[in-house]
Amino acid sequence: MQVGKDTVVTLSYRLTTLQGELIEEATQDQPAAYLHGGYDGIFPKVEAALEGQAVGAEADVMLEPEDAFGDYDAELVRMEEADLFPPEVEVGMQFEGASEDGQHYMLYTVTDIADGKVVVDGNHPLAGQTLRVQCRVVGVRSALPEEVEHGHVHGPEGHQHH
Ligand code: ZN
Repeated sequence: MQVGKDTVVTLSYRLTTLQGELIEEATQDQPAAYLHGGYDGIFPKVEAALEGQAVGAEADVMLEPEDAFGDYDAELVRMEEADLFPPEVEVGMQFEGASEDGQHYMLYTVTDIADGKVVVDGNHPLAGQTLRVQCRVVGVRSALPEEVEHGHVHGPEGHQHH
């Protein structure tokens, strides 16, 4: 069976920085699964590389920031009063908050604390980075109708909400 629209693809993969630093991996024994066909289950560029492939196929894909977590946007860095935060606030903590325009929720990471101010950065921690995905197709099957309806994989490697 080939990877195509509405197939469930099981992968082993390594996601690394360009310098080879490991960010995330799934081994052959504990692979990850996604629903193929534009459901946002995986980076679109990796999905494109796997289209039409079969079990055993390997892909090695470079992701520019715009193909991964976006360019770094200096305007997403904000300075807030420290008393808006819990007293145990420290660098590296993450908070959900409204975006500047109040239109949606964003994840902010605390990057500095000084003089009663807390600096938070709304960029994804991997924004601006070129990443590399090396993956191998471990399995391909047809998606179940309710997986297509939900837009994600069910079962041991996917969502379990039955
Ligand atoms: Zn579901």
